[in-house]
Amino acid sequence: MTRGGLLRVATAFVAATSLPAIARAERYAVTMSAGAWLRRLGPARYAILREGGTEAPYSSPLDKTFAAGTYRCAGCDQPAFSSATKYHAGEGWPSFWDALPRAVGYQKDYQLIGEVRTEVHCSRCGGHLGHRFHDSPQPTGLRYCIDGLALRFIPTPAHDRGRSSERE
Ligand SMILES: [Zn+2]
Repeated sequence: MTRGGLLRVATAFVAATSLPAIARAERYAVTMSAGAWLRRLGPARYAILREGGTEAPYSSPLDKTFAAGTYRCAGCDQPAFSSATKYHAGEGWPSFWDALPRAVGYQKDYQLIGEVRTEVHCSRCGGHLGHRFHDSPQPTGLRYCIDGLALRFIPTPAHDRGRSSERE
């Protein structure tokens, strides 16, 4: 199929499903109907992950969580971020300076008029996680500004932490 053909199909798909402003032309390993996602996630997580919403700033307890562990996609449970790259950005959302390898994908997001942002979503289920900015003082210069409702934090058990420090 030509590039133009693909674009027309993608446009028709978005129009037909009245999905959010964020176009979803990729295929994902985990797919579900809107109703099934809503039952699985509940309305608050659904609004973020499946409709591209943004939670209120400073509303997520994960904003202030800095324990060792893994942040998984709340949609499909894929590990998305590590506590090793989490930092306090002071913007009101959990922030990271890197994502786990191959855990996320990106799309241009035109939801804000006059500003093109980089949307970040789960590579496994396509769930919207947040946005990525280039204004971080951290090693990568990146700031992944992620909705806490899109994540589940799994703390690293104490005995695993001991083992991993022995390996290093
Ligand atoms: Zn996911």
